[in-house]
Amino acid sequence: MGGRERQRWIMHMDMDAFFASIEQKDDPSLRGLPVIVGGGHRGVVSTCSYEARRFGVRSAMPMSEARRRCPNAVFLRPRMARYAEVSALVRGVLGDFSPRVEMASVDEAYLDATGMEGVFGSVEAMGRRLKQAVREATGGLTCSVGAAPVKFLAKIASEQRKPDGLFILGPEGVEAFLLDLPVTAVPGVGRTFAEALARLGVSTCGQAARLGGEFWRKRFGRQGELLHDRARGIDPREVQPFAPPKSESAETTLEEDTRDRDVLDRWLLRHAERVGASLRRQGLAGRTVTLKVKFEDFRQVTRQVTLPRRICGTEAIYKTARGILDALELPRRVRLIGVGVSGFEEGPPEQGSLLAEAGPAAEDARLGRLDRAVDSLCEKYGRGAVTRGRLLEGKKNGDGPDGRERGPGVRQPGVTPRR
Ligand SMILES: [Mg+2]
Repeated sequence: MGGRERQRWIMHMDMDAFFASIEQKDDPSLRGLPVIVGGGHRGVVSTCSYEARRFGVRSAMPMSEARRRCPNAVFLRPRMARYAEVSALVRGVLGDFSPRVEMASVDEAYLDATGMEGVFGSVEAMGRRLKQAVREATGGLTCSVGAAPVKFLAKIASEQRKPDGLFILGPEGVEAFLLDLPVTAVPGVGRTFAEALARLGVSTCGQAARLGGEFWRKRFGRQGELLHDRARGIDPREVQPFAPPKSESAETTLEEDTRDRDVLDRWLLRHAERVGASLRRQGLAGRTVTLKVKFEDFRQVTRQVTLPRRICGTEAIYKTARGILDALELPRRVRLIGVGVSGFEEGPPEQGSLLAEAGPAAEDARLGRLDRAVDSLCEKYGRGAVTRGRLLEGKKNGDGPDGRERGPGVRQPGVTPRR
């Protein structure tokens, strides 16, 4: 010990126009066109392609404003389940570059690159390799990468050369970089704070650093101290690696205890749908399916099946759970039934993912598409908007899983899934 402390390196990766780029990749006829993904609950632009940005369209802009600026754009509703799939692929790639990866959102991540840069020769070489690996894994999507000694500077660095950018901010360059950096570029400096700073004549980090800590503390409290730190390049936050849940499950205590296997079967499908959608949203897939049954005398049994491969598809989860239920004797009426999936591993699911292009069974691909269609309709219209036919049969008899938790009736959206 006693040597020099090794240089801390944090890398920030940000996918370029993520949602719009995926739409353009999945539908080649959209390439080169202005594509605007948005709408939904808040009625704003989620992401737009670089072609649309030329018309002044930006993220978080009201859709009405985007339509005014770029009336000829292709307007699409977000397909979050699809984007989550691609996100899971990207996360898998990042895991090859650092054991400490924090997905900050669906399309950006921090990597602790400390010590890793040696493996690749330099931080810059590591960044180049990472960009290439992301492009290859996603079938051509680009990202921008920044690296710096601290987190917030890594994030700002990734914005410097967008799109398809790479910007390395070494420790020796930090002071000069901060000197003219607008305070509005510092994460956490919102419009109100920036206006107050402007009234003080502070518009750059260089100016903020020149005022003492005491001034910032008295005038702005914690927020002021934070800015003073950032303005001097101080950000002690560590990369927080993603910790996936150990399992995903859904269960229901029935209103009436029952031995009717048709009723129980419909609950299995309902739970499989819920668990599957949640897994797909998180980019997870599991090898083990668990059925939990509690009888009217409160005796509880759980049965598990471990599959040769990981699944996240509703149909696969349902069929496995159904197989367990069929083999289970029902000596008494059932009061609770649940389905769980566990046994996750890092990396993308093997079903219904981009890997479908590599050619697994056509059936899997079809079911993956069905899951995606149901997921995206549920995102648009709320859970319960779409229900598989078998669940509706029970509703007619008044004993199915429907209508209880999901409010009145089952709506039939007059919309056909796009894919
Ligand atoms: Mg992005």
